[in-house]
Amino acid sequence: MSLRVRFAPSPTGYLHVGGARTALFNWLVARQAGGTFVLRIEDTDRDRSTKEMVDAILEGMEWLGLDWDEGPVFQGAGVDRHRAQALQLLGEGKAYRDFTTPEELARIREEDPDRAVRYPRERFRSLSEGEAEERAAGGEPHAIRFFMPTGETVLFRDRVHGRTSFRTDTIEDLVILRADGSPTYNLAVVSDDAEMEIDLVIRGDDHLSNTPKQVLLHQALGNKVPEFAHVPMILGADGKRLSKRHGATAVGDYADQGILSDAMVNFLALLGWSPGTDQEVMSREELIRAFSLDRVVKKSAVFDPEKLDWLNGQHLNRLSGKALADRVLALLEDDLADEARRRWSLEPEWMDYVLDLLKARARSIDEIALKLRPYVAQEIAYEPEAVKKHWMKRPEEAVGHLDALHERLAEGVEDWTEARLEEELRALAAERGVGAGRLIHPLRLALVGEAVSPGIFEVLVAMGPHRALARIAAGATWIRSRIDRES
Ligand code: GLU
Repeated sequence: MSLRVRFAPSPTGYLHVGGARTALFNWLVARQAGGTFVLRIEDTDRDRSTKEMVDAILEGMEWLGLDWDEGPVFQGAGVDRHRAQALQLLGEGKAYRDFTTPEELARIREEDPDRAVRYPRERFRSLSEGEAEERAAGGEPHAIRFFMPTGETVLFRDRVHGRTSFRTDTIEDLVILRADGSPTYNLAVVSDDAEMEIDLVIRGDDHLSNTPKQVLLHQALGNKVPEFAHVPMILGADGKRLSKRHGATAVGDYADQGILSDAMVNFLALLGWSPGTDQEVMSREELIRAFSLDRVVKKSAVFDPEKLDWLNGQHLNRLSGKALADRVLALLEDDLADEARRRWSLEPEWMDYVLDLLKARARSIDEIALKLRPYVAQEIAYEPEAVKKHWMKRPEEAVGHLDALHERLAEGVEDWTEARLEEELRALAAERGVGAGRLIHPLRLALVGEAVSPGIFEVLVAMGPHRALARIAAGATWIRSRIDRES
C-alpha cells in the first residue's frame, strides 16, 4: 500500500517559511515513496480563518511547485463526523460531560492552578448517575472531555526524535467537543488523519506535546496510530523564533523579491535537513532522491537570508534561454518587455547573450530585470555619484573622450565584436595619451547610467552599434548642457 502523508495548514495567516518547509518535507517524502500527498485546510477556527488566506496558501504551494494529489479537503466539512466520534467516546465511557462554566474554571484556576487541571473530573465524579444525561437533555451547556488515564506512559515512535514518551499524569483531561458543539483541534486532527488513512504525520515540533493526546485518542477510537516526524523550529539569526522582524516570512514575499521557486525549495529543504554530502545546490529531482527523515535534526534550524540569496544566484546561473527570459521579461513594464521581445525575435541569440552576461553578476531575477533596462529602454537616467566622479570632475575631457569614441566606433560599425571594439578603444586611448580606463569609465556611464556593468566590450556588443552610439552621443550632449549651464 502506498504511503499517505498530509500537510494541514490553518488558514489564519499566509504560507510562511515554517509551513512551507513542513509542506516540502511531506511532499519530498511522498514523491520519493511514490505515495500520496494530501492537502487539508484546517479551517475549524472560524473567526480567524479567511478565504483570502486559503487562496494565499494554495498560491504559495503552487509557486513552490508542491503539487498535491488529494484535496484541498476542508476540515470544517468533517464536523459531523468529529461530533459523532466525541459522542461515541462518551457512550463508551472514555469521555465525560463537563458542566463547569468558564467563570467557575477561571476562579479555580486563580485559586489553585493545579486543582484546575483535575477539577472537571472531580465534578464529574460528584454527579450522580444519570444526572449528567438529564442536565444535558435539559439543554445545559457543557463540554465533552476525554478521560486521561492516570499513571500511564504514552509511547510513540518519532522519525526525528526517536522513541518518545509522555506521562499521562501531566496531561489534563482534554476537551474534545466545546460547549458550542465545535470539535477541538486534537479531536479533529485525529479523526481526519484516520479518515484519510494518513500513515505518517510530518509537522513542526511545536506539536510534539499534542502527540500523546492524539495517540490516546486514536487508540480510544480504535484507529491505527500513524507514525510521526516532528521537524525542528526555524529561528532567526538572533536565535529568536522566526518573525517579521527577520524580514519576509511569507513565501509569497520571496516570489515578489525575485527569488526563484527552485532556490526557495532548495533553501527550505536545508532548514533542518542536509544530504550528508558537500552538495548544497540541488534541484527538485535531486532533493527527492536524496531526502530522508533520518537526516532531519532535532536542533532548531537557523534562517540565513544570505544563504537564500546565494542559492538563488546558483539557481539563476543554472537557468537559461527561454525559461530565464520569460521570468525576467515578466518583471519589466509592458513597453520595455515589448521592445525586448521585438529585439529578441529579430536576433534570436541576442537575449541569451545579454541575459548570460547579466545573470553572472546577479543574485535575483529582479536584479537582472533592473540591469536589462539600459539595453532596451530608449532613455536612461544617470546615477548622480557616478556623474560626479566620471564626468563632472573634468567635464571637458569627458566630452572629448565621448566624442572621440563616437567617431571612432561609428567607423568600426561593420565589425561590432568584442575583440575589434577593444582594439579600437585601446588604440584611441593611446592616441589621446591616456590609459584605457579614462575612456572606459565615462563610456560605461553613458551606456548604462551607472559606474558598474559587465565588461565594457560585452556591454557594447549587447547594446549593438545603433543604441550604443546613440547613448554615447546623448551622454556627450548631457555633459555639454551642464558645462553651458555652469559657465
Ligand atoms: N493546523 C495545524 C497547524 O497548522 C496542523 C497541525 C498538524 O499537522 O497536525 O499547526
